[in-house]
Amino acid sequence: MASSSSPQEQYGIEVIENYETTCWGCGLRVMLPTCASVFKCGWCGAITDQNKQKRDQKCFRWRTLRDRCFLSVVTIFMFFVIFGGVWAVYPVVFSVSLLCGILHSILTVLLSIATISSFSLAALTCPGTPPTILWGSYPTVGKGDLENYTYCHYCSKPKAPRAHHCRSCRKCILDMDHHCPFIGNCVGAGNHRSFIAFLISAVLSTIYVSVMAAYSSMHIWPPLNYSVGHINGASSADRAWRFMSEIIAAFLRSALFLSSRGLVLAYLLIASVSLQIGLSILLWQQLSYIYQGKTYLSHLSSPGDNDEEKKDCQNLVRFFGFQYPVTRFLPNFRATPKRHVK
Ligand SMILES: [Zn+2]
Ligand SMILES: [Zn+2]
Ligand SMILES: [Zn+2]
Repeated sequence: MASSSSPQEQYGIEVIENYETTCWGCGLRVMLPTCASVFKCGWCGAITDQNKQKRDQKCFRWRTLRDRCFLSVVTIFMFFVIFGGVWAVYPVVFSVSLLCGILHSILTVLLSIATISSFSLAALTCPGTPPTILWGSYPTVGKGDLENYTYCHYCSKPKAPRAHHCRSCRKCILDMDHHCPFIGNCVGAGNHRSFIAFLISAVLSTIYVSVMAAYSSMHIWPPLNYSVGHINGASSADRAWRFMSEIIAAFLRSALFLSSRGLVLAYLLIASVSLQIGLSILLWQQLSYIYQGKTYLSHLSSPGDNDEEKKDCQNLVRFFGFQYPVTRFLPNFRATPKRHVK
């Protein structure tokens, strides 16, 4: 009696059937095995990922609300630091000398302008729109026109290889680094430089604020009254502990008698030092990604990719927009070959 199963099934060989589908990029029909959910078109180079689905965008309003709250808090904080700092520090610096007061006024104006302008540029500039490209039908799309492009289900259009879709901004962003709620905007090709400029000026400003707040606090802080009696037979660790606890107690007793100016200075000192630490870490992280020729998102997608060839100081130079390599302006110390005259 003849068996109904095929020869492949008899020998336990898995049968892969082909199916026909359409490339979203050029509209050409493609034959694929049933197991292929991701494929690249041989004509236009577009990548189709059938696993990717459009996710629910219900939380968009919450993201917008969160961004606006963060943006308002950051703006209010910046103006508080500028005006509160001027009010608390200026009586002290002008009491030293008029020249000292004028110098600090100039420094404050320069740092404030740098921080506010770079912040506004980072928050208001378009983070980078991918170039518009023709797609969808065969004669229009040439060979390799959509090389490594994917399809964005949210924007319903092609997504460039270096672009990512941001669900907070509801659009695709070229060279997207991350979505920053503190500026209420994405950081991408269009505003990455302004964002780094903002981080640099914010770090410099917080260093300046912490130094000036500490200096002014020393002038207006009430004298610390403490006494550490001699303890017979106490170890050096015990003596150090008693000394520290007495200093802290005296510090807290004095803080009760602080004026409002003193309280503002104490707040500015604590806030600026903690911000300084956080912003410096962020700046260092950002600069190291730029040095490696990456963005934060591309680092996440290839965390183990430590390609030494990509790491170059020229990446930093190119990022900050210098047209020519720095080495061009440096003297050339390489020995020039001597010419032999016959
Ligand atoms: Zn195609
Ligand atoms: Zn998109
Ligand atoms: Zn965004």
